[in-house]
Amino acid sequence: MNAKAISMNGLLLNRAVLVLNTNYAPLTITTAKRAICLHVTEKIDIVESYLEEIHSPSIKYPLPSVVKLRAFVHYNSMDVVLSRRNLLQRDNHTCQYCGKISGKLTIDHVIPRERGGRDLWENLVIACSPCNLKKNNLTPEEAGMPLLKHPRRPNRIHYFQKFVKQHQTGWKPYLFMETWGTTIKNNPSYLT
Ligand SMILES: [Zn+2]
Repeated sequence: MNAKAISMNGLLLNRAVLVLNTNYAPLTITTAKRAICLHVTEKIDIVESYLEEIHSPSIKYPLPSVVKLRAFVHYNSMDVVLSRRNLLQRDNHTCQYCGKISGKLTIDHVIPRERGGRDLWENLVIACSPCNLKKNNLTPEEAGMPLLKHPRRPNRIHYFQKFVKQHQTGWKPYLFMETWGTTIKNNPSYLT
């Protein structure tokens, strides 16, 4: 395999894959690389594939886009894990004070930690370094820096929807972004 093919496969293997429970409830997002490992070990079925394929001299492998677990996972929570990556996703990689999207982005405690502000979705926002420095140990009101929007705890479906870019059209039926596919039409009970 030439260098170009290897780097292309590398990019494709990092492509986001939507993981569904056995009842088609969206569970998490993983990489194509991990999804292929789970497929090889028969933990999942591939429900949708991207147009591209993974190539090596001996094999051609479909690039999974949506996969479904073979064994049901009991997971009732629709909460999204609080992490830097997920905060960036919620806030669209945008400073919530000045709207800047470039430069070094940091995590700001709206109510500063030193003043009892906790690590909660409702108290954490993405801020550019200059805004974070300027705000320092003040509340937005004290600093005269109003937030662009009120920080909220995201719900899992909204969170997954944000991952849908041009490549992820195959995800839409599973995230209520278009008409129900026939396979999931009768199975929305996990949302209630
Ligand atoms: Zn800023």
